[in-house]
Order: sequence, then C-alpha cells, then structure tokens
Amino acid sequence: MRVLVVEDEPRLAEGLRAGLVADGFAVDVAHTGTDGLWLAREVPFDAIVLDLMLPGQNGYQVCRTLRDEENWTPVLVLTAKDGEWDEVEALDTGADDYLTKPFSHAVLVARLRALLRRGARERPAILSAGDLRLDPASGRVTRGGTELTLTRREAALLEVLLRRRGEVVSKREILDHVWDFEFDGGTNVVEVHIGRLRDKVDRPFGRQAIETHRGFGYRLAADGG
Ligand code: CA
Repeated sequence: MRVLVVEDEPRLAEGLRAGLVADGFAVDVAHTGTDGLWLAREVPFDAIVLDLMLPGQNGYQVCRTLRDEENWTPVLVLTAKDGEWDEVEALDTGADDYLTKPFSHAVLVARLRALLRRGARERPAILSAGDLRLDPASGRVTRGGTELTLTRREAALLEVLLRRRGEVVSKREILDHVWDFEFDGGTNVVEVHIGRLRDKVDRPFGRQAIETHRGFGYRLAADGG
C-alpha cells in the first residue's frame, strides 16, 4: 500500500514516514501543498495523509482540488487544535477522516487501515442530477446556474433524493433521514415538502425531475428532469 504524506514540519514528516515504512507501507513525502497535489495527480496512491496548514496550497485547497478532479483517493487530514480550519470543514472538502495533533502513531495506522479497507469510493462533494446541483456543506442549490433559496428542510430533502438519484425512495425513508425522532406526525409532511421543493427546483424551469410513485415514494430523475 502506497501512502502519500503531505506535511511541512520536517520532524513530523520524517517521523510519519519512518513509522509508516516500519509498518509496511511504501511512503512518499511532500512538504508543500503544491508538491503534494502534483504527486497525488501523478501517482495512484492508496491513501493520502494531509496536513491542513501548509505553505503553497493549504490542505483544504489540495483536497478540494483532488475531489473536483474526481480523484477519490482516501484522504486522512491532520489538524492542529488551534488551526485555521476545523475538522468539519476538512470533511466538507471531501476528506474521509481526520486526526487532531498530537496523535499516536498506532491510532494513525488504525485509521489509515480502515480507510484503505474502504478504498477510493466516489463521493463527490457536490451532489448533482443534470443541471440541478447541491453543495451539502453550504446548502447552496443551483438549477442551470441559477441560485435557488431553499429552507434547511427542503435542502435536506433534496440531498436525500440526490444521493439516491434514479431510485425510488420511500416516504418512510425520507422521513427517517430528514425529520428527527421528535417528529411524530405522518408521512403527509413529506408530501407537503415535496410540493414546496417542486415549486422551487422544477416548476419555474418547466421540469419534472421529482416523480411521484403513488403509495410508495419519490424518484429524482438522474438526468435532472
Ligand atoms: Ca503544517
């Protein structure tokens, strides 16, 4: 298993390299985000250990760029507690996991092995069906480049449909994903919100992306309708 370590602090980078080599990994090291990105593009690594605070391009930009280029190599981000970015933001860029410095080598290896088992799955940071796009991190929704204003609930509902685009999703599943345990109403709340969602993402554009499957649920056309 070949791992890329992107870390600017020389002693930490060398410690990581030596430790991972001792654990049987093949390791390449980059000391700047720019070099890391270049290597990640050139070499099919099995995983990348990526520091966030880097000279040149920071880890946040490196990860986002790789995902934008549809490079799905698992990324484990290293963050400092007092860092400029937090873990949540790191994961929003398409990173798979994070560790806060200082961390034990054993924990790093365990997390890395877990990522390697999962492999490079496609998990775009932006969800889309045709020209309908949702950025789950920011909640930003666009249709053909036009920005739409959705409530948090409507965006969550759209996210469920986009993640399962092309499949029929039952009202019960939607309810479980979008409403919390406190909610004890029936599935007609889903129908109401689907109606509102259609009024925003479909009707103004003369589209019919969200299909009703009577008595069961809804399907979002994979091509965006
Ligand atoms: Ca650093």
